[in-house]
Amino acid sequence: MCRAAFHRGAPYRVTRPSPPASVPDAPLRVLLVEDEARLAASVRRGLEEEGFAVDVATDAADGEAQALSGGHDLLVVDWRLPLGDGKTLVERFRAAGHRRPVLMLTALADVEHRVAGLDAGADDYLPKPFAFDELVARLRALARRPDAWSLRVGPLEADGRRRLATLDGAGGTHTLALRPKEFALLEALMRQPGAAVARADLAETVWGDALYLTDNALDVTVSGLRRALDDARRAAGAPDAPWIETVRGLGYRLVAGDA
Ligand code: CA
Repeated sequence: MCRAAFHRGAPYRVTRPSPPASVPDAPLRVLLVEDEARLAASVRRGLEEEGFAVDVATDAADGEAQALSGGHDLLVVDWRLPLGDGKTLVERFRAAGHRRPVLMLTALADVEHRVAGLDAGADDYLPKPFAFDELVARLRALARRPDAWSLRVGPLEADGRRRLATLDGAGGTHTLALRPKEFALLEALMRQPGAAVARADLAETVWGDALYLTDNALDVTVSGLRRALDDARRAAGAPDAPWIETVRGLGYRLVAGDA
């Protein structure tokens, strides 16, 4: 599919983009926040044909809730939305520590809006109407940015794309043996290194809906993560590896080893 193209000195155009070689097989999961039903449906169909997995939110409130759940690799956010606006959504997404790439869509093509969108924390910006192929090319370009997926605290790195955490030390680089929930918990703590993160916030980020979660599930996951960090610290020979501190009555904090 290809919508009418209006390229204003388009910096590049890719007719048939090929997937980046460095990205593994799992489909990139896109959250599309767009209230125009026909546009949302056609973009979703097109992206799925290109191999993306797509979730759609049709208002700012639902979009924010889905974005903050942290389960997406890329966000495409329209500016004008019911129940809020895309710019505020992106600001809150960034304020919560999320670093996944965001592309903003808007019919407001003037420079002022473009700058405001980028200031809010968007990584790229596409004025409507846009060529579908250009959207795909831009999403693939955003997905290739190495800093989009990785978090680093001292010698500890978490690669959100591969769901892989590694620790560098005198003995080389060691991969942490983590279950998916342990990795998600590690990412949540690494987004705010040194800060105490409340149990409820961690539960919400890792499990999505904390309503039916027992306290025990979080404790067990923290224990597993601590064990994996300890094992990696020994295996990699990294005495300065970050560790997880209990903040009594509140939650947990990731402490950098040299702090
Ligand atoms: Ca709109």
